Amino acid sequence: MELDAALGLIARVPDFPEPGVLFRDLSPLFAHGDGFRTVADALAATVEPDVDLLAAVEARGFVLAAAVGYARGLGVVLVRKPGKLPSVAGRVDYALEYGTASLELPENVVPRDANVAVVDDVLATGGTVNAACQLLEKAGAVVSGVSVVLELAALSGRTVLDGRRVHSLQVV
Ligand code: 5GP
Repeated sequence: MELDAALGLIARVPDFPEPGVLFRDLSPLFAHGDGFRTVADALAATVEPDVDLLAAVEARGFVLAAAVGYARGLGVVLVRKPGKLPSVAGRVDYALEYGTASLELPENVVPRDANVAVVDDVLATGGTVNAACQLLEKAGAVVSGVSVVLELAALSGRTVLDGRRVHSLQVV
């Protein structure tokens, strides 16, 4: 399947999770075997050769990073919402496009000085991925790049990421 056709499987849902937000729903893409493989392969190709480890943002980032990690022979560290991890290396609170949130990093999983690529589905305001980057950097890792399927240009997430290398399969 062509990448454009695979990305075309992403649904646009008006007024979710609140009025005025056009939500990009990757569920139909995840459920399509050919489309999912096409996108996973394309995302895997964006990960720099010197990367040691992937970091996935809960929850859709988990699905994508698992496929990318398998394709590239890389492990995945799960960056989680609060209350899920038995032992936490760090926590960051941040603002979302709609509301606030926090992310936590598991303890003793990310080696110091590891080159880590962050994987998520959508880059919107950049708050989520930036929080993941901050957690990794506080743990002594180096964020080598950020790979997302979709970048919402109007929300300027790239600016928040402050010079970090961002790879998006599609900018809308
Ligand atoms: P940000 O922190 O960049 O504003 O938002 C990105 C995070 O919120 C990502 O983890 C992403 O899963 C979620 N998100 C924000 N907007 C959308 C959207 O339109 N579609 C999807 N699937 N996720 C979104």
